[in-house]
Amino acid sequence: MSEDVYDIIVIGGGPSGMMAAGRAGELGARVLLLEKNDRLGKKLSITGGRRCNITNAEYDNRLFLDSFPESKQFLFSPFSQFNVESTFEFFEERGLPLVVEERKRAFPKSQKAEDVCTTLKEYVEESGNVTVKLSVTVESFVLVDKELKGVRTSAGEFLGSKIVVATGGLAAPETGSTGEGLSMLAQIGHKVDDPDPNLAPLRTSSKWVHQLSGVTVDDMTLRFMQNGKTAHKARGRLLFTHFGISGPLVINSAHKVKTLLKQGALTASVDLFPDHDLGSLDTFFIELFEQQKKKTLKNVLKEVLQKKLSESVLNRQDLRIGDLPVHEISRDQRKLLVRTLKDLNFPITGTMGFEWSIVADGGVEPKEVDFRSMTSRLFPNLYLIGDTLNINRPSGGFSLQLCWTTGWVAGTHAAQAD
Ligand SMILES: Cc1cc2nc3c(=O)[nH]c(=O)nc-3n(C[C@H](O)[C@H](O)[C@H](O)COP(=O)(O)OP(=O)(O)OC[C@H]3O[C@@H](n4cnc5c(N)ncnc54)[C@H](O)[C@@H]3O)c2cc1C
Repeated sequence: MSEDVYDIIVIGGGPSGMMAAGRAGELGARVLLLEKNDRLGKKLSITGGRRCNITNAEYDNRLFLDSFPESKQFLFSPFSQFNVESTFEFFEERGLPLVVEERKRAFPKSQKAEDVCTTLKEYVEESGNVTVKLSVTVESFVLVDKELKGVRTSAGEFLGSKIVVATGGLAAPETGSTGEGLSMLAQIGHKVDDPDPNLAPLRTSSKWVHQLSGVTVDDMTLRFMQNGKTAHKARGRLLFTHFGISGPLVINSAHKVKTLLKQGALTASVDLFPDHDLGSLDTFFIELFEQQKKKTLKNVLKEVLQKKLSESVLNRQDLRIGDLPVHEISRDQRKLLVRTLKDLNFPITGTMGFEWSIVADGGVEPKEVDFRSMTSRLFPNLYLIGDTLNINRPSGGFSLQLCWTTGWVAGTHAAQAD
């Protein structure tokens, strides 16, 4: 058995683990931070398109937690200890000013996720109380008489009075979050919900959608239709990809879409002119055609839609009329065009896999954790934080705020508990 005995062992050097280790070290605890990658914060460094959407600047805890409808009752306590304002203070006091963009998304002013990693690494090192061991994979817990005593790793055994699990979920497994932490927690009796990609782009089998890859529509309404009824609706920006659709509103609809897909077939319907109803869009085209009588439909349509998108619309079976001058277009053809532009539909066949997802569902059930301190309800010296918890939330900085809050709370309580 190893001679190394620490006050706290933190498993996983992502945002939540670094925050917990740094905070516990700051309070004087002797901490061991174990990370299986050869560097800390691999996933953190690719967040927000490498700009890192570090939090969401909603300072009112109640309003912020409205974005966690299923788990907000658990989160009031940790957020009363470390909230969005604390995150701003934490980073800005350490020389990393933040800026707030649309939808209250906050980023480092430098626009570099790497700078967020550096700030946290410095926090981890600052107290001199944290030993970081890289390229060490934790394989199992050391349990003696049903008490957690430490961890077995690829580099031998380490003992610790408290253990913080910050191994992440299953999203983007190439960054190191491959789920061993969740398996280890299941082995010692925690109920771990099966991981499933969440906050992920959506897949369709329609080839014409794949061919639109790279096209972005800045403002449209997306309806998810089931049994002829609108089951879910969102408005905003849409990105077509080589497998289907993406963009913040699609990603944030993924959780709902997964539930709907379990109930039956689902169709996406894109309304490219959300500010018009059928009648007013028809009037718009009557006037547009009147102004440019001699032009072909494909040339007129290019003025109001991106070229690739207008070509795709005119490739549809009943709308191969792009080469007609608009004055030759019949009333029925015009009306069909209008209906198509307001209901561009295709089947949704699923969400993209873990490698495409920002967050994965699954993890430890919140009710198995005492959120006042982030301790396990099964083992009083075990702390669970960040993506190891099964907490559904939207994109926009909410995931990382959860890491800062739960990491800080666990680090504080683990350092202070006897
Ligand atoms: C592409 C992408 C972009 C994102 N952008 C944003 C964004 O802009 N804003 C936002 O709020 N959220 C974003 N997220 C989500 C956010 O990155 C995660 O919620 C966050 O990283 C979770 O932090 P964590 O500390 O819980 O786990 P992770 O960041 O997953 O870190 C876990 C660490 O534990 C290590 N580990 C795992 N198992 C072991 C083991 N057995 N032994 C030792 N070490 C182990 C892993 O190597 C990893 O380094 C994004 C996610 C992705 C994939």
